[in-house]
Amino acid sequence: MTGDRDGAEATFDIVIVGAGFGGLYMLHLARKLGLKARVLEAGDGVGGTWYWNRYPGARCDVESMEYSYQFCPELEQEWEWTERYAPQPEILRYANHVADRFDLRGDIQFESRVRAAAYDDETGTWTIETEDGGVLTSRYLVMATGCLSSANTPAIEGLADFKGPVYHTGTWPHEDVDFTGLRVGVIGTGSSAIQSIPIIAEQAAELFVFQRTPNYAVPAQNHPLDPDYQREVKAHYGELRARASQTRNGVDTHPNDVSALAVSDEERQTEYEARWQNGGLPFMAAFNDLLVRQDANDTARAFLCGKIHEIVDDPAVAELLSPTNVVGCKRLCVDTNYYATYNRDNVTLVDVSQTPIEAITPDGLIVDGRAYPLDVIVLATGFDAMTGALLKVAIQGRDGATLKEKWAAGPRTYLGLMSAGFPNLFMITGPGSPSVLTNMLPSIEQHAEWIAACLGYLAEHGHERIEPTLAAENDWVDHVNDLADHTLYPTCNSWYLGANVPGKPRVFMPHIGYPTYVRRCEEVVAKGYEGFALG
Ligand code: NAP
Repeated sequence: MTGDRDGAEATFDIVIVGAGFGGLYMLHLARKLGLKARVLEAGDGVGGTWYWNRYPGARCDVESMEYSYQFCPELEQEWEWTERYAPQPEILRYANHVADRFDLRGDIQFESRVRAAAYDDETGTWTIETEDGGVLTSRYLVMATGCLSSANTPAIEGLADFKGPVYHTGTWPHEDVDFTGLRVGVIGTGSSAIQSIPIIAEQAAELFVFQRTPNYAVPAQNHPLDPDYQREVKAHYGELRARASQTRNGVDTHPNDVSALAVSDEERQTEYEARWQNGGLPFMAAFNDLLVRQDANDTARAFLCGKIHEIVDDPAVAELLSPTNVVGCKRLCVDTNYYATYNRDNVTLVDVSQTPIEAITPDGLIVDGRAYPLDVIVLATGFDAMTGALLKVAIQGRDGATLKEKWAAGPRTYLGLMSAGFPNLFMITGPGSPSVLTNMLPSIEQHAEWIAACLGYLAEHGHERIEPTLAAENDWVDHVNDLADHTLYPTCNSWYLGANVPGKPRVFMPHIGYPTYVRRCEEVVAKGYEGFALG
C-alpha cells in the first residue's frame, strides 16, 4: 500500500531526490516529457548546497556569469548578478527564482528525507520510503543528491560534551550567528574555513584555527559587477558558454597551452602574477602541465608560497600556512583576505598536523596537552563527498543487491550516470563523471538532459528498463582510474579520493576531462546506448 505522507496517491513515473540545481532542472525536463514527477527534498526550501551552506562568507568560487543555468535564454538574460562571485544568499535567491519561474514547487515535497529505495524486478518499479513514513513508487528514480551534501563530522572524543554551540559549515543554522565577543575555534582549513575565517575573525574576541593540512588559496578579487560588463556578456552569452565548454573543467579559464617549464623564469612569474591579480580558479590554467608534472607544479607551489610569505607578517606562521603538497591536488581555494587574517592580534593558528586534537572538553579543546578555552566551535571539516549522500539512502537493486555492498571498495558506475544491477536508477553528477572537477551547473545540465533524452528514447522505442552492462561499467571504472593515474591528483589525501573520511576506500572518484566526457556520452547515445542493456 503506497501513499505519500499526506496519504495521497503516490505512484509516479519518476521520483527525483533533491531539489538543488540538479533536481530542479530534472523536474522541469521530466514535465516536458509529460511524466508524472515528484521531487523529495530533505530541506524546507530549494537550493541544495546553497540551502545548507549558510556559513559566513559562503560564496561560489566560479564566477556568477558562468555559475548559472544556460538552458533558457530568457532566464539567462533576465537574472541580474550583483557581484563577480555570487554570495550564498544570492545563489539561493536564484534557485528560488528558477523554482517560481518554472512553477516547480507544486511537484516538490519538502521536509521529506529519503530513507530507502528498493527495485522490484517483476514490476519494474522503485519503491521509495521517506523518513516520515511516506511510500512512493515510480518507474524511474533520479538521485540528484549532490556531491558535497553529506557533512563529515570528525570523531573527536568529547565533542558531544562541549557546552557551547557547535556549528558545521555544511549544515549552518538559518538564524544569524553572531560571534561578537566570543572565543571561537575553527577546525579545518579547506574552502569553507578559508571563506569563513576572515569574517569570524572580525567579530570574535579570539579566534583559534586548528589546521591539520594547509591549503593553497588564490584571491577571488571579488567586486561588484559592472552593469556594462554584464550587458556585454549577455549580448554574447553563447560565446562564453562555448569557450567554457571546451576547457578541462567547463570554466572559461583561458587555458595557456604551454608547459610551465618551456618558458623563462621571468615569463612564468609574469603569467602567475597576472593570474593571481585576476584571481580565482583560472590560476590552475596558467600552464598545461601543472597537474601532470611534479617539476611544473613545483613552480606554482613556489609562487604561491612566496605570496603567503609576502602577506603574512610572522615568518613562522607563514611557513605553517605554506602547503607542501601538489597545487590543485586538493581543490584550489578562492579567498578574500584569508592569509592577511593571520596578521590580526586576535587570531592564532594552531598546528594539529603532528599531534591531532586530543579531545574536546565542556570548556574547549585540547591539543598536545594544552587547553584552548572556547565558547563556540565551528567544524569546517568538509563532506563525505560524492558517495556520502547516495549511500545514506538504503538503495537495493535487482536481486536484493545493495549499492552500499556493491560500492564497498569504491563507487562503480558507467559514465557516472548509472550502476549495473540498479535498473532505471540515474545519478546526476555521480562518481565517475567530471562533476566536482567542473563548473557544476553545466555538468548538471548535461546530465539532466542526457537522462531526459534517454527516457524519451525508452518511451519511443517501447523499452521500460535500462541499466549498464557489467563489462561497460568495468571498462569505465578502469578508464576513470587510468586518467587519474596519469596525473598528480592521487598524490595527496583529498576528498576526491575519499581520503578525508576514515575507512573510506581510496579511489579517485571524478572523471578528468570535461569535453572528452561529454563527447563520450553523445557517442554512447549515437550508437544506440552503447554499453547499456535495454529491456
Ligand atoms: P574540505 O576541503 O574537505 O576541508 C575540510 C578541512 O577540515 C580540511 O582542512 C581537513 O584537514 C580538516 N579536518 C577534517 N577532519 C579534521 C580533524 N579531525 N582534525 C583536524 N582537521 C580536520 O571541506 P570544505 O572546506 O567544506 O570544502 C569541500 C569542498 O566544497 C571544496 O573543496 C569545494 O569543492 C567545495 N566548496 C566550494 C566553495 C566555493 O565555491 N567557494 C566553498 C566551500 C566549499 P585535512 O586536509 O588534513 O583532511
